[in-house]
Amino acid sequence: MRTPLIAGNWKMNGLSADAMALADAVVERAAGLDGIETVMCPPFVHLPMVGDRLKEGVRLGAQNCADAEQGARTGEIAADMLADLGVSYVILGHSERRQFYGEDDAAIAARYAQALKARLRPILCVGETLEERDAGRTQAVVAEQINGVVDRLESAAGLGGGVIAYEPVWAIGTGRTATAEQAQGVHAFIREILAERQPALADEMRLLYGGSMKPANAADLLAQPDVDGGLIGGASLDAEDFVAICAAA
Ligand code: PGA
Repeated sequence: MRTPLIAGNWKMNGLSADAMALADAVVERAAGLDGIETVMCPPFVHLPMVGDRLKEGVRLGAQNCADAEQGARTGEIAADMLADLGVSYVILGHSERRQFYGEDDAAIAARYAQALKARLRPILCVGETLEERDAGRTQAVVAEQINGVVDRLESAAGLGGGVIAYEPVWAIGTGRTATAEQAQGVHAFIREILAERQPALADEMRLLYGGSMKPANAADLLAQPDVDGGLIGGASLDAEDFVAICAAA
C-alpha cells in the first residue's frame, strides 16, 4: 500500500511574506487531511521560515541539493544543511534544472547520492519533450533518465527511499496536462523498469505525475493505479487549489 504524496514545487516565486502566508494557509487547510503525505518545497531562503510554520502532516522539501559535501562549492547548498533545517524531501533533476543549468544524468546522480547520505528522500524528475514524444521516444527517454541515475548509484539500495516524478516537459507550466491514460501508460512503464532494476523497490516506490495538475484534473490522474501522487507547480502557489488536489489523492 503506497501512501499518496502531493508535493508543491514553489519554484522561484515569492518574497518572505508570501512564503509565510502561503505556508500558513496550506497548513491550516491541510489540517483535516488523512492518509496522505503533503510536502511544500519553497525556495532555499524560505525553508527556515516555512519550516517554523509546519504542523503535523505537512513536510518540508527543497528544490535541489549540491552534488558534493560541504566545502568549496560557491552558491550551492549541501544536503546535510537541508536535513539540519528539517527538510525531508528534495526535488532532483527537474526539467528546468536540466534545461537552464545543464544538469545531466551524472550530475543528478551525484546530487541523488548526497541526498541519500543526508537521509533526505529524493524526488527524481524524468520526462520527455514534445519533440521526443512526437518521435515516439517517450519510453526511451524516461528509461535513459532513470537508468542514468541508477547505474551511477553505488549502494545496493540504489534509488533507496526516493520517489520518481514523471513530468512530461510539454505539460509543465503550459496548462496542457497529460491525459490520465498517457500518465498511467508511462507510470506503468516506469514500474516495469524498476522491477527489472530494483525488484525489491518496484512495488513500494511512489510515482508522482507532474505537469499542469490542478483541482479539475487531479482526481482523474490520481485514480490511475500507478499514479501515487503529484508534483504540483503553478497550482501549489494557491493554498486552496493545492489542498483541493491533496484532498483528491
Ligand atoms: P506545473 O509544474 O504544475 O506548473 O505544470 C510542475 C512542475 O514543474 O513540477
